Amino acid sequence: MAKVVLITGASRGIGRACARLAGACGWSVGVNYAGNEAAAAEVVRDVEAAGGRAVAIRGNVAEEADVTAMFETVETALGPLDALVNNAGVLGPKSMLADMPAARMKHIFDVNVFGAYLCAREAARRLSTSRGGRGGAIVNISSAAARLGAPDEYVDYAGSKGAIDTLTIGLAKELGPEGVRVNAVRPGLIDTDIHASGGQPDRADRLGMTTPLKRAGSAAEVAEAVIWLLGEESSYVTGALLDVAGGR
Ligand code: NAP
Repeated sequence: MAKVVLITGASRGIGRACARLAGACGWSVGVNYAGNEAAAAEVVRDVEAAGGRAVAIRGNVAEEADVTAMFETVETALGPLDALVNNAGVLGPKSMLADMPAARMKHIFDVNVFGAYLCAREAARRLSTSRGGRGGAIVNISSAAARLGAPDEYVDYAGSKGAIDTLTIGLAKELGPEGVRVNAVRPGLIDTDIHASGGQPDRADRLGMTTPLKRAGSAAEVAEAVIWLLGEESSYVTGALLDVAGGR
């Protein structure tokens, strides 16, 4: 029986690459998305074309009712959950903190922090052995920004990813005895739509040139680390913050 993973924000970018690789590696995949139904449907088709099973689920990770419904839909469609990739995330336009509207900061923390905590909570409820679960794995998508701070661009986003690192450290200790490993991947400059959503479509390529590896990374390169952390190959790894950032 294939193992089941729910990936938030899996219609585009890093989440999509994780969904495709997970499907190719034999996982059944819950493909969460916020609004882009066509993109999510394409990811489902990709997984099915590789011989796997997948279901697309619309839901805002920052809404508790959406999150609980999303987990229920995945388990109804694909079977009991084995893993979560806590990937959905947003950033705002480049800005100094002094110029940031409160609504923008609240949105960043709602999606990146509250949303990730809600999804981790739902996974903990389902996976923990003392609650009838079978154990499993959670991979949180943090960012190199958590240690760099993203000055002059988005310190709100960087702080939200610092919270993800701390969630990973605490939850790994809380859930280790429950048979659940919890790790984070901290991508660097990865070529996805997120930079355009922050008003800088060329950001990954431009700043990627300044990294030791002299280029931006691809979503597929991040997915390799994520899928490794989901699987038995990383069975003694928990509480780790794994940089996939080209040395940045
Ligand atoms: P992206 O290309 O902009 O894709 C974002 C994905 O998240 C989309 O699938 C989007 O769904 C979904 N999403 C957005 N808000 C959501 C919400 N409220 N509820 C559910 N889904 C939501 O982003 P990405 O670059 O792949 O980033 C993925 C993760 O990696 C994020 O956590 C980001 O912070 C992190 N990261 C990225 C980079 C980078 O350089 N790209 C670096 C470090 C960390 P729709 O398609 O429906 O809009």
